[in-house]
Amino acid sequence: MNAGLGAATARVPAKINLHLGVGPLREDGFHELSTLFCALSMYDDVTVRTADELSLTVRGESRRQVPTDASNLAARAVVELAARAGRDPHVAIAIDKHIPVAGGMAGGSADAAGALLAAARLWRLDLSRTELLEIAADLGSDVPFSLTGGAALGTGRGEKLLPVLHRGDFHWVIAVSGSGLSTPSVYRELDRLRDSRDGAEHSGDAGTRRPDELMVAIASGDVHAVAPLLHNDLQPAALSLQPLLRRTLRAGREAGALAGIVSGSGPTCAFLCATADAAVEVAAELSGSGVAKAVRTASGPVAGARLIPTDKNH
Ligand code: ATP
Repeated sequence: MNAGLGAATARVPAKINLHLGVGPLREDGFHELSTLFCALSMYDDVTVRTADELSLTVRGESRRQVPTDASNLAARAVVELAARAGRDPHVAIAIDKHIPVAGGMAGGSADAAGALLAAARLWRLDLSRTELLEIAADLGSDVPFSLTGGAALGTGRGEKLLPVLHRGDFHWVIAVSGSGLSTPSVYRELDRLRDSRDGAEHSGDAGTRRPDELMVAIASGDVHAVAPLLHNDLQPAALSLQPLLRRTLRAGREAGALAGIVSGSGPTCAFLCATADAAVEVAAELSGSGVAKAVRTASGPVAGARLIPTDKNH
């Protein structure tokens, strides 16, 4: 695969958080998290090609929202990996973008994970999984999960992962919002909301509790057991910043979804459906209701970043 072509491509899934518990603010500015990640069948493809200098291009509807300079997480991943390998980061990076940008689905993290995997392959680096995960964690809290995929419990900033047993596929409808939300601003809003209330119950101390009941439900594969346990501590903050999301959540449930939540820091909303057919019906109804910019179906958990043959046209 990709052998001898001077190019390598990685395909990387989006994520949603089936549970996102936000604990207290830490000294380093991050919040302590207890989260259950699930990788979804919505993918970015990241290709790296040998070149004379580092460059980056993005293809896809949302390409204008993605930086193409050194701040792009995929470029940062390549620069970091090259520095560790003691070589120049001279590659042309091409991102085929399908994951919503600033949507709470870890699109940038997926691209960083893809760039790491593809560049390690292109340069034939002999890296252990542990080394790759370490570099990933330095790049961003969600990058390790983009590599591992499946379902996993994330603690710390979300970078410490424990695989979670899961059975079968869960079917989702994803409602993409017209405007993004910046993750730091959603955390700031959560802190503001918590500060404006009294009492320890709002300080975030409960946020680091492990979602044991949900883990049992996921292992059983029973979608009806999973649905009422979906939870996101960031949802009130995302709704406070984008009040129209309440309408989206209501519309999804009225369309027949078992449950709906804001995905991560939002504003993407994810609706869990009983079957694949039900998801198609909910998606059709949501599309017609005009509450979202785009509506898609996806299933998960799926595997994390993996190498695929390079498309010669890109
Ligand atoms: P998360 O769920 O990890 O908090 P997100 O899905 O909400 O993140 P991203 O799509 O990762 O958000 O984008 C957040 C911001 O990061 C964007 O607004 C963009 O400016 C910047 N960014 C840097 N690199 C990328 C990339 N490769 N793809 C998308 N955005 C990127």
